Amino acid sequence: MTTTHAFWLAGRQATGEGTFEVHHPWDGTVVAEVSVPTEAQVEEAVAAAAAVAGEFAATPAHVRATALDHVSKRLAERTEEIARLITAENGKPIKWARGEVGRAVSVFRWAAEEARRTNGETQRLDTDAGGTGRFAITRRFPRGAVLGIAPFNFPLNLVAHKVAPAIAVGAPIILKPAPATPLSALVLGEILAETDLPAGSWSVLPVPNDRMPALVKDERLPVISFTGSDKVGYQILDSVPRKHCTLELGGNAAAVVLADWSSEQDLEWAATRIATFANYQGGQSCISVQRVVADASVYDRLVEKVVPRVGAQVTGDPSDDSVDVGPLVNEDAAKRVESWVDEAVAAGARLLAGGKREGATYAPTVLADVPADVTLSCEEVFGPVLTLARVDGTDAAFAAVNDSKYGLQAGIFTHDVRTAFRAHRELEVGGVIVGDVPSYRADQMPYGGAKQSGVGREGVRYAMEDYTYERVLVLTGL
Ligand code: NAD
Repeated sequence: MTTTHAFWLAGRQATGEGTFEVHHPWDGTVVAEVSVPTEAQVEEAVAAAAAVAGEFAATPAHVRATALDHVSKRLAERTEEIARLITAENGKPIKWARGEVGRAVSVFRWAAEEARRTNGETQRLDTDAGGTGRFAITRRFPRGAVLGIAPFNFPLNLVAHKVAPAIAVGAPIILKPAPATPLSALVLGEILAETDLPAGSWSVLPVPNDRMPALVKDERLPVISFTGSDKVGYQILDSVPRKHCTLELGGNAAAVVLADWSSEQDLEWAATRIATFANYQGGQSCISVQRVVADASVYDRLVEKVVPRVGAQVTGDPSDDSVDVGPLVNEDAAKRVESWVDEAVAAGARLLAGGKREGATYAPTVLADVPADVTLSCEEVFGPVLTLARVDGTDAAFAAVNDSKYGLQAGIFTHDVRTAFRAHRELEVGGVIVGDVPSYRADQMPYGGAKQSGVGREGVRYAMEDYTYERVLVLTGL
């Protein structure tokens, strides 16, 4: 028998009308049923968030930091249970699910530290005669209540990236988890309910997609923090151009291997990292390696090392500790990936590994000579598929990275510090990772996209800046 999960309305548990099912992507079994909030309940949560905004913004830092530390500690204590839940709702291999809980533990700990540290600045104004006897103090204040909308691929950590900074600055948050993966966000609600945060300062509401446009437009939620596809992200931005929107969107990240990255050890490290991070979570990460761009002088040796490593990735039941690649979020997602690979092969791409689907699982796949105009070359695949391209020299490699509508992160394998600085200057991305794949992310780093990969930055302190604005106090006659 499946259990029906309640949601969290203004800090307390509630059930609404009707339910929806959460399926295990591996075997399609129903993991849970989740209650759907009514329109009146959503209205109650929004009204409560707006009503508590002033009080929450004035909450002492030690209260907010203590709550954040508590969440961090409890997530750590419940790691195994929550990791198993992530695997059940998302299909993510358990070893990666444990890693995701560990990251959320750090996000809440960082937020607690930032809540204690955040302060304003003073500025002298007596640099001009008119400023004699004056000085200024700047402090940041919340813009108001936040609507946080999360995707399915990191059901806990990307929720943490919305909730923890909101608590750190004292901004109420209405969190809307992805319909496929609401369960870890609901467990986070259980832990938040153990804290002394004011009622109304947080809600976790699994609102159906067709009712989201009305919530997005609600003027009592002046900040929107969205992570998901560029299609939905830009629909939101277009519908509320005057709101403060952070959009963390898609990507087709490239790993670049340059001519100087040529020893056996260099190429083994690059190939191992590429094979792992093209496929981790079935490639369903916005910064998983989708494209390899390698200098012609190292290309053949790199390919010789990448292909067997991709072939060695273990697919199967994601609850098994030895499995590297589980199913995609559902069978439709796997069929879409399959159709893009088939299209590329029909257009002349060479299949070097994989290319097979079984239910929702798509085998880790490598393709070379992929024509520039097929879907796989232009769009985000969000599946375990890697394309390989041979280029001549650094100019051509950097041009290939920038030849994308996306720009989230790029990984550059080089030993040359001047090339590293050049990559930092020239690549149109939110982050350049030198000596590793583009998939590296530390949760305190500024994280976000250039071009169509997004607007604004997450990473605890950067999200706190996004949720607040600077207000100056000028003191006169001193
Ligand atoms: P999605 O856009 O389908 O859904 C994201 C969220 O938006 C879900 O909660 C969904 O229910 C909600 N939603 C759907 N329609 C809506 C509407 N009309 N108004 C408001 N909300 C609506 O994305 P997804 O499939 O869950 O996630 C995958 C995408 O997320 C990929 O493109 C991936 O690259 C991106 N992503 C980006 C980052 C990043 O930090 N840049 C991180 C993870 C995932």
